[in-house]
Amino acid sequence: MSAPPPPYHQDYSKPPMGYPPPHYNGNGAPPQPAPGFHLPPPQNHQPQVVIVTAPALGSHKARITCRNCRSDVETSTDKKPSLYAWICAGLMCFFGCVCGCCLIPLCVDSCMDTHHACPNCGAHCGTHRAF
Ligand SMILES: [Zn+2]
Repeated sequence: MSAPPPPYHQDYSKPPMGYPPPHYNGNGAPPQPAPGFHLPPPQNHQPQVVIVTAPALGSHKARITCRNCRSDVETSTDKKPSLYAWICAGLMCFFGCVCGCCLIPLCVDSCMDTHHACPNCGAHCGTHRAF
């Protein structure tokens, strides 16, 4: 008759062992990037800036290079009364010139805005303001 094996059971009543606080095991240096690792050279971004200078347009036809169709053209002009002409006409009307002379500023060439357009493609090329 043999003795029963001694009961084998763990003692769970002990509190679990706490983890020790993390710390660097001090051989010092922080991790370095691998030698030979190079950043790519910065791209030299140069955005293409297209500077479009407005051609000097007067009250007459002008020879320009159209920005739309890129052809060398003489602009076709269209004259319209400027804002100043309308103000003059309104003032003349206000002061009693209602017999038609208030329309004079709307007919005087120097009171007109000149709109330049490309005869090729019809694009608006610029406006010469009367004032
Ligand atoms: Zn054009």
